Amino acid sequence: MPRPIHALIHPQALRHNLARVRQAAGDAKVWAVVKARAYGHGIERAFDALRGADGFAVLDLHEAQTLRDLGWRAPVLLLEGVFEQRDLELCSRLDLWHVIHHEAHIDMLSRHKTQAPHRVFLKMNSGMNRLGFTPSSFRSAWARLNALPQVDEISLMTHFAHADDALGVAEQLSCFHAHTHDLQGERSLANSAAVLRHGHDAAVLADWVRPGIALYGSAPDHPLHTAAHWGLQPAMSLRSSLIGLQDLKPGDEVGYGGLFKADRPMRIGVVACGYADGYPRHTPSGTPVLVDGFRTYTVGRVSMDMLCVDVTPVPAAQVGSRVTLWGSDASGEVLCIDEVAAAAGTVGYELMCALAQRVAVTVDV
Ligand SMILES: *Cc1c(COP(=O)(O)O)cnc(C)c1O
Repeated sequence: MPRPIHALIHPQALRHNLARVRQAAGDAKVWAVVKARAYGHGIERAFDALRGADGFAVLDLHEAQTLRDLGWRAPVLLLEGVFEQRDLELCSRLDLWHVIHHEAHIDMLSRHKTQAPHRVFLKMNSGMNRLGFTPSSFRSAWARLNALPQVDEISLMTHFAHADDALGVAEQLSCFHAHTHDLQGERSLANSAAVLRHGHDAAVLADWVRPGIALYGSAPDHPLHTAAHWGLQPAMSLRSSLIGLQDLKPGDEVGYGGLFKADRPMRIGVVACGYADGYPRHTPSGTPVLVDGFRTYTVGRVSMDMLCVDVTPVPAAQVGSRVTLWGSDASGEVLCIDEVAAAAGTVGYELMCALAQRVAVTVDV
């Protein structure tokens, strides 16, 4: 009998979320961002549900190869471009589109021998100061690229630093526009937050949007908004069972360091889920959890293989009772990953991506 913890991937939620993003994206084409093993869901598991996208955006060649092996013939974009010269050979072989974000990328391309010229996305650093050419060097980079026989079409892109918060995208948008308005080519600017929060502006949506997190059912701007507010459904449920119960009297402690001390008679359930499964150790007592579909909360410190929950409000709880750490319960009750992430001082993105290798993953049917 394996440990009862498992993650369930919900293809119908992925499909729903993709449709929801499309609805918000107007006429823009959609890159489904599947970096980091499709945010922990697994590219192979998410592929079928997301193949309604116009392209897939990935981080590395291995992910691109996986998509081609799955039979995907439409566009694949390397979001950070290549990492070394010989990567360009695989770009040619697999027909990958790639981002150009520094001079060395242009140098590599100029040395690359290819039959078919490449489609590239030239990236501007419009204020985030992560990747991309500065606005003042953008035009000369464009001209250099445009002169290369290795280059087919040049598209233009940038990335927003404040799409998910109150500052918004106006400043970066006007910077991008000021330095690109007379350049030919398709444009891509928006991540999930930009699509959902600023998609009323056609200049934000542009030609291609690049949603990631929204596809997986987490709100990009939690706690300003919830996934339910955006009409998104959880694509991953982390489920387990109770493997033990303890009855506490007032003054009894729970777990390492006795971080939790009962102030009244309580019943505690022990869940087969710990930080070695990817559940964050930093979650404090009081983090929400579902037991048999009822909402209760964690108590005490999360250990490597176990955590404890208060089952006093769930009198029918017993060894074997269903536990949902995030996502949907078999009863249909939902515990949004963003709530758990917020309690742990992080974001849904990190929890999805951190799902541990030892957790068995199955696809819902
Ligand atoms: C990861 C990534 C995205 C997707 O961002 P979400 O916030 O998950 O929607 C979009 N664009 C780039 C360049 C990225 O690296």
